Amino acid sequence: MQIDIKEKAKILKERIARSENIVIFGHVNPDGDAIGSSLGLYHYLKNKGKKTTVVMPNDFPGFLKWIPGANEIVDFEKQKAVVTELLIAADIIFYCDFNDLKRIRALSDIKAEIRAYKVMIDHHPQPTGFADIEFSDTSVSSASELVYEVILEMGDSGLIDSDVANSILTGIITDTGLFHHNSENPRVFEVLAGLIRAGGDKEKVINEVYNTFTNNRLRLLGSSLYNGMQVYAEYGSAYIVITLEDQKKFDYQIGDSEGHVNWPLSINEVNFSALFIEKDDYVKASFRSKGSFDVNVFAREHYNGGGHKKAAGGKSYKPLNKTIEEFVSLIKKYKKEIKNER
Ligand code: 5GP
Ligand code: MN
Repeated sequence: MQIDIKEKAKILKERIARSENIVIFGHVNPDGDAIGSSLGLYHYLKNKGKKTTVVMPNDFPGFLKWIPGANEIVDFEKQKAVVTELLIAADIIFYCDFNDLKRIRALSDIKAEIRAYKVMIDHHPQPTGFADIEFSDTSVSSASELVYEVILEMGDSGLIDSDVANSILTGIITDTGLFHHNSENPRVFEVLAGLIRAGGDKEKVINEVYNTFTNNRLRLLGSSLYNGMQVYAEYGSAYIVITLEDQKKFDYQIGDSEGHVNWPLSINEVNFSALFIEKDDYVKASFRSKGSFDVNVFAREHYNGGGHKKAAGGKSYKPLNKTIEEFVSLIKKYKKEIKNER
């Protein structure tokens, strides 16, 4: 935890008291933490009596749509004019779960004058410094956990109801992959206890997020593992490819490939896993590590992306076959770093 969080929370509390209109932004391709941190903050601010709107740069997976307030989220891609008006009127804009404006590139389309005070709440390394006040802490599991800490520091634990708690629980549970990673700091379990005491329902969150697959989604996972996966035990690596054809075959919906990239790590020899999803004009890449191979650095250097040490993502603008060829030569090159450790 940063030493000055108390002071920052005090400044923020005063700002919120003076504000009427608040907008909360999550990152592009919102995940459980982007949605969970934003909605946690949203319910807290509503409980404080503030007019608050959550905006996401694009649509998000169905397994996050059960969270209270999710159906009120404004999709920037579909409602640019509405978002422009909201931003012009905003007294405060929160940025949750990202630290680089590239992650909401859509916002740069808006040319209007934005006078709002900007607040970042994030847990990724290497913040780029674009907000007026930044709550940035890489030792927490998730941006959602940090939202909880900020609310506590503002002295408002009494405003954490079951909607706030379930939103934040969703972010913590998804960003830690059900406590597989990002949860070395014992504080996360204290936070969890606090959330459950406040009315959070851990079992409901897990069932809604993980046990609501469609038939097609589970079969896509079967196909990804059986046909789409290549294992390079000699390089400690594996990758999965999902082609446009696969997506058509299994009626692909946003979020259907969530979690695929983790599966190759369950192979003993595999320390580094990648997932490549073919899109119309690029290839989306996801990277995961279970050793000390730093996928944030890897994604930044080779895929114009970023993330965390053990979970990162990026893009390739080369055709799928070229992307794969290049990836195989990279794992050959990084073989020592990938295999050495665990
Ligand atoms: P995922 O592989 O699930 O898309 O993302 C894993 C992690 O990497 C998340 O923390 C996500 O925010 C980050 N990430 C994914 N894609 C990008 C990207 O293109 N740029 C940056 N900076 N981070 C990314
Ligand atoms: Mn996160």
